[in-house]
Amino acid sequence: MDGKTLIFILSLLIALNAAILLLLSRMHGEIPGPRDWACGAACLTAGVLVGTQTDGRFAVAAVTAANWLVVVGYALIFIGVQRFAGFKPRAGSIVLIASLSVAPVLAMTDLAAHAVARGVLVGAVMGCFSVAIAATLVGGGGIQRVTAGVFAINAVMDFGYGAWLISAPADDGWATTAFLVWTIMLAFVTGAALALMVSERLRDELDRQASHDPLTDSLNRRGFDLVADKLFASRIQAMHPFSVLMIDLDHFKNVNDGHGHEVGDRVLTHVARTLSLHLRAEDVFARWGGEEFIVLMPNCDAFQAAEAAQRLRMALALNPSEPRVTVSIGIASSDGETSGLTDLKRRADGALYEAKASGRDRAVAAGATARPGQAVWAE
Ligand code: GH3
Ligand code: MG
Ligand code: MG
Repeated sequence: MDGKTLIFILSLLIALNAAILLLLSRMHGEIPGPRDWACGAACLTAGVLVGTQTDGRFAVAAVTAANWLVVVGYALIFIGVQRFAGFKPRAGSIVLIASLSVAPVLAMTDLAAHAVARGVLVGAVMGCFSVAIAATLVGGGGIQRVTAGVFAINAVMDFGYGAWLISAPADDGWATTAFLVWTIMLAFVTGAALALMVSERLRDELDRQASHDPLTDSLNRRGFDLVADKLFASRIQAMHPFSVLMIDLDHFKNVNDGHGHEVGDRVLTHVARTLSLHLRAEDVFARWGGEEFIVLMPNCDAFQAAEAAQRLRMALALNPSEPRVTVSIGIASSDGETSGLTDLKRRADGALYEAKASGRDRAVAAGATARPGQAVWAE
């Protein structure tokens, strides 16, 4: 296959990438990046096609424009990657820097004599953008890291192209063909990697929505079970003492009835935030349902759990919601041998019931390590 055919295939492939990325940006406008990538791919397609016009009166203008379009294409992909990673790139400045960096091409008007210089310059600029893209993505996990690797390979190619031009400028035989075939493969992989990044982001977002409560942004029951199962997957963890707190707002129905559901929602959010702020990083806090919260406390015995319950009640007393609410807390702790999580939840629920029955606004511990029904630090 001759060079022109390969270049045509390359442009077709990048155009298809542009179409797929554009479609993705239409379908998932909430995810930043694909629109810039689509524009970047469109610029690259135009650049590759315009670059084939090396004969005729406008050859110099065509090659100059092609170089500029390719570099701006890379700049746009970099801008999209920055947006995808959560940064706020200065798009105008980046495109300006990209344009200025290839400005020397304007002086390279002798196509044949300046071919090497142009190739080295444009290759180096593309390489720099590839490195910047890889550096932006390498910190992210999963597909982002794979994409970073793809762009790192791309950078080696871009710099390598310039080096090869310097070492063998007259050879346009198999090496050019190999370079083009390799570029086609990379274009395919790059487009797929970017699209897969969007798919991974969507999956993560879906997972998050399925495991979190939209009102308080804490874990929901499903999310709690997932995290707890993971925690207890290792037997060693299950051997350590751990505790469960069941927390229920007192007379919360009165808040709704007296102030309306909107105020009730605000109180729930306030309580969730205050409680989670006063837990250890390893504690798992979740909205168990309605106005009830649960805390799983790994490596925490009955005494420490009772202390934590007191700390939570104090935190709410010192930083009250409007209107002020109190909580009742049921505590259950494992002795590290027999109790499973299900058993502990059931016992914590029983203790919570006792806390309610004995007057509310208190913590009650259940189980072997505390006398049943024993009130701890109740006011
Ligand atoms: P107790 O001290 O016995 O727990 O009394 P309570 O009023 O807190 O308990 P009850 O079970 O009678 O009422 C719970 C209320 O919580 C009723 C329900 O409308 C309200 N609730 C549950 N989920 C939400 C929510 O997401 N937002 C609001 N505003 N209210 C909620
Ligand atoms: Mg309640
Ligand atoms: Mg309740």
